[in-house]
This record gives sequence, structure tokens and C-alpha cells, in this order.
Amino acid sequence: MLAAMTQEISPLHQTLSTIAGLKVKIDEPLARYTTMKIGGPADYFLDVDARPALAQALKALSEHRVPFCLLGKGSNVLVSDRGVRGAVIRLGEDFKRAAWREEADRAFVEVGAAYAMTQLVREAARRGFGGLEFGEGIPGSVGGALYMNAGAYGSEMEKIVERVEGATPSGGAVAFTRDQMTFSYRDSNLPPGTIVTAVTMRLEKRDAAELSAKVRELVTRRKSSQPAGFPNSGSMFRNPPGDFAGRLIEAAGWKGRRVGQAQISERHGNFIVNHGGATAADVKALMDGARMEVKSKFGVELVPEVRFLGDW
Ligand SMILES: Cc1cc2nc3c(=O)[nH]c(=O)nc-3n(C[C@H](O)[C@H](O)[C@H](O)COP(=O)(O)OP(=O)(O)OC[C@H]3O[C@@H](n4cnc5c(N)ncnc54)[C@H](O)[C@@H]3O)c2cc1C
Repeated sequence: MLAAMTQEISPLHQTLSTIAGLKVKIDEPLARYTTMKIGGPADYFLDVDARPALAQALKALSEHRVPFCLLGKGSNVLVSDRGVRGAVIRLGEDFKRAAWREEADRAFVEVGAAYAMTQLVREAARRGFGGLEFGEGIPGSVGGALYMNAGAYGSEMEKIVERVEGATPSGGAVAFTRDQMTFSYRDSNLPPGTIVTAVTMRLEKRDAAELSAKVRELVTRRKSSQPAGFPNSGSMFRNPPGDFAGRLIEAAGWKGRRVGQAQISERHGNFIVNHGGATAADVKALMDGARMEVKSKFGVELVPEVRFLGDW
């Protein structure tokens, strides 16, 4: 019996199981790790709690030629119903730390990639350092926010990043200074396969009470315009130059449109909500339909903002 069980474990699984600070799950359903609560199983789901474990796991994946992708807090992804072939990596404990260096008129904070953006925004406001307020209400990790160049209300990660540390796909260490990085709208243009492990940001000294008031104001603004109560992935499409994807989808008559348990939010045309049990195929059908209608009515090609993960 034991021999039969051992035989079922792949050589890669055996290698990964020996790495300290790494938890391996096989055929792990991904819906629970995404804010939209959608997604089939990952062949390998790797929870990486220690920095050395990341390098060792990447080396093993590379040697076994098994592809991988990163999952932060899963707040801007659409994971296929068929799931992900290969490995999904999620960063844990060692990547949830922040080190502050405060000076008279500014601060540098080095933050692990798994740190929650909203937690960082509030910590910065409490300490009286500004620049991160735009991140209030962005339910992602610092690594995901950097990768996506997340932004809102006229600011984005690009404006505060000083340095990025990461790993190459084969497990080597890599670092980029601000000057070595090129950001664009919802993209960081990192070399393919780069894993962000830490981000250093530069913040400016400001009045703590004013910052907290600003953060509260942005919470209210979000609540008044975005759907609450149903799982979603934030904006599904990037805003085209000079316009808004939500406005175009509404004008095309697709606001409120439903496929299965997925619906284009009645509150905001660029959000799709999951009423419970929606599939990735339902969401994709709504996105394709809205995109075609906007293209035929207004000649505008909407580009997805969510990242499609897995086997489509
Ligand atoms: C209610 C709601 C509101 C939102 N509002 C905003 C907003 O105002 N502005 C905005 O920009 N976004 C917004 N988003 C989208 C999302 O929160 C951001 O894009 C966020 O930064 C994604 O971070 P994440 O950790 O969830 O990344 P994930 O969704 O897990 O991943 C997104 C992409 O980043 C990659 N990735 C994640 N972590 C790493 C890493 N460590 N290294 C390399 N690649 C990585 C993934 O592979 C994937 O391609 C919103 C989402 C929701 C649900």
C-alpha cells in the first residue's frame, strides 16, 4: 500500500516535499484564493513561507521544466475553470514584513511582496507619510500592485517606487532601481517570469490627520461607485485613452447583462460580479460580448485589465 502511494508521487513532488518553508498542495482548487471566487485546480500549489525555499522551488521547477505563475491576493485575475497546468506560487510569511527608514521630510519603506496594500496605506498615514493614499481600497498585495502598476485617483505605484527586488524564473536574485524600470498603464514591464519579492517605496512627510482624512474620503468615494457584497475582480478592462470602459459598456447596453451566475454590475459597467457559482466561462462570455458590442457601436477595442491565468 505504502509502495503504491509512493509511486504516485512525481519526482518533482518528491523534491518539493523536502524543501523547508514550502507547503505543497496537489490539484488545489484556486477559487478560494481569488476575490472573484472562481478558478479550477492548480497541478501544484506552492505556499512559500521562507526566502531560501523560493529559490529552491524555482530551481526544481526549472529543472523539471514545469511552468509556474504567481498569485498574489488574486484580486485582478480570472482563473480558468480547467485550472492551471504546472505550479501556482503564493508568497507567505517571510514576504509579509515592512522595514521603515524615516527621515525628517521623507521615508523609505521596504515591503515584502505579500504585504497587503491596504494595511500599508493605513500604516503610512498613521506615521504621517504620504504618497500611498491611492492604494486605499485596492485589495491586492504589494507584489501584485507593483506588477500591475496599480493605481487610482490620479496616482499609481510608478510614482513611489524606488527599488524592486525579485527572483528570476530559475531562482536567481535580481534587483531593479527606479531608473531601470519602465512602467505603463497597469503594467510594470518586468522581464518575463520575474517574481517580485520586495518593493522599496519613497514617501513624503505629511500631516497624519490630513492623510487619515484623505484615506477616509477615498473609502467613501469607492463605496459610492463600486459594487459591494458580491465577489469581483475590480476593473475587468483598462480604460481606453480619454474614456472609461464602464461608460462605454453602459452606453453599449451591456450594464446589468447576465450569463449564468455572472453579471456585469448594475452599479459599475466595468465590474463583473459573481452571484454564487459563476464560472470563468460565464465571465469570459460577458467580457467577449461587451467587447464586441463596444467595438461595433463605438469602434473602440477594449483591452482586458484582469490577467487570465491557466488553461484557457
Ligand atoms: C474591489 C476591487 C477594487 C480594485 N480597485 C483597483 C484600483 O483602484 N486600481 C487598481 O489598479 N486595481 C484595482 N483592483 C485590482 C487589483 O486589486 C490590483 O491590480 C492589485 O494590485 C492586484 O494585486 P494581487 O496581489 O491581488 O495580484 P493578483 O490578482 O494575484 O495577480 C495579478 C497579476 O500579478 C501577478 N503577480 C502577483 N504577485 C506577483 C509577484 N509577487 N511577482 C510577480 N507577479 C505577481 C500575477 O501573476 C498576475 O498576473 C481592484 C480589485 C478589486 C477586487
